[in-house]
Amino acid sequence: MKRILCVDDIETNLFTLEALFEAHQKDNYTVVSAKSGKEALNVLLSQEIDIILLDIMMPELDGYETAKLILKNKKTKHIPTIFLTAKKDNDTVSKCYQAGGVDYLSKPYNEQELFARIKFHLDLLESKRVLEVEKKFTQDILDMQDNLVVISDGKKVLRINKAVSGFFNLKNIDEFRNKYICICHTFVHEDGYFHLGLIEDEELWVDVLLEKLKEEDVLVLIQDVKSLELNSFNIKAKIFGNDYLITLTNITSFDAESKHNKHDASYDSLTNIYNRTKLNELLLQQIKASKNSTNTFSFVLIDIDFFKDVNDTYGHLVGDAVLVQITKVIKTHIRESDIFARWGGEEFVLVLPHVNSNKAQIIANNLRVKIEEEHFAEVNKITCSFGLTGYKNGDNIDSITQRADMALYDAKGAGRNLVCRLD
Ligand code: GH3
Ligand code: MG
Ligand code: MG
Repeated sequence: MKRILCVDDIETNLFTLEALFEAHQKDNYTVVSAKSGKEALNVLLSQEIDIILLDIMMPELDGYETAKLILKNKKTKHIPTIFLTAKKDNDTVSKCYQAGGVDYLSKPYNEQELFARIKFHLDLLESKRVLEVEKKFTQDILDMQDNLVVISDGKKVLRINKAVSGFFNLKNIDEFRNKYICICHTFVHEDGYFHLGLIEDEELWVDVLLEKLKEEDVLVLIQDVKSLELNSFNIKAKIFGNDYLITLTNITSFDAESKHNKHDASYDSLTNIYNRTKLNELLLQQIKASKNSTNTFSFVLIDIDFFKDVNDTYGHLVGDAVLVQITKVIKTHIRESDIFARWGGEEFVLVLPHVNSNKAQIIANNLRVKIEEEHFAEVNKITCSFGLTGYKNGDNIDSITQRADMALYDAKGAGRNLVCRLD
């Protein structure tokens, strides 16, 4: 049952309205009457009222003034007011709306029209209320997420959840829009991560993202405004009506761990150069690239001379320091594209892409001299022997390493601190 407040200074008008509702709408509405604007305001503050029918011409407070006061009060401003007026001129109509009325009916009114207008405005109010509830419901669900959740039209954010305002240390969506406009402007330009640098002028970033997501997981990098550290996020996007729903899951610790594991799996922990596993992988690529082609590469095995004596005389830690220092000497004298790895123990491998064995012999000898000239703490001098070979058609990892090992054996046999080659 809805409650209608009828306001009119002429008592017969009120009786007529009451009788009308009693006769035709008894089951739908209860009528409450007020004879002045003041009385109407008192009723509104003391009772639940769903809609108001308001006369304009009344002594003291007229209808316009009453409507304005209803609108001013927090408790009553949501209640729709329909003006009932004997006047029909444009000025009256516009004044009704200006005063905050949702509608007006001119007297004498048609009963059916009156009922229909009342129902329409009550239904409208109900849909608005449902919409508000739904909006709050969605926002509550969004806010419950730890993930950053954004609704965007592709150009600016339309909704953000609490996790977003919290992460960017902003009060609300307006602050976010003023600072970044859209979430895409927070993505740091970094290789391996999705960012605006990858988007062509005519493309919408989120469309490019959607395409990319069909193929693979996509990561973005965003700076944490509090710690200033870069955080990695797994980004997902979904078409959401005419807009896009975007979620970002912070995987910073996971990402760092996976990078760390990746590094551990490929690098030697003492010297921080490639380990044997990674070397085999890269060597296989070189062999593949050289098969049936003019491409070639050289393979050099490097073994420290009398290293056991170093350990025995100065201890294992000094031995370790020698391994690290030799790595540094070699690294500073090779190209970025050369593959340098720890083969195991005190042996290293150097793969020189696009270098034939003649040239490799010069490079290896140069490295031999550099090591010979280097001063090592406590130990003073260290030398290395080098076994070298060039790629031959039909080679595999074993055949190349075996030849290099034989060459190394020759170098050791011939007195050490030498480069020997076996083609
Ligand atoms: P050669 O000139 O014939 O190569 O003599 P060598 O003493 O260098 O060769 P040998 O194979 O007899 O000894 C290698 C030594 O390298 C033995 C081992 O203790 C040492 N070594 C292997 N890995 C490490 C390491 O990680 N740290 C240290 N400090 N020593 C290592
Ligand atoms: Mg050895
Ligand atoms: Mg040795």
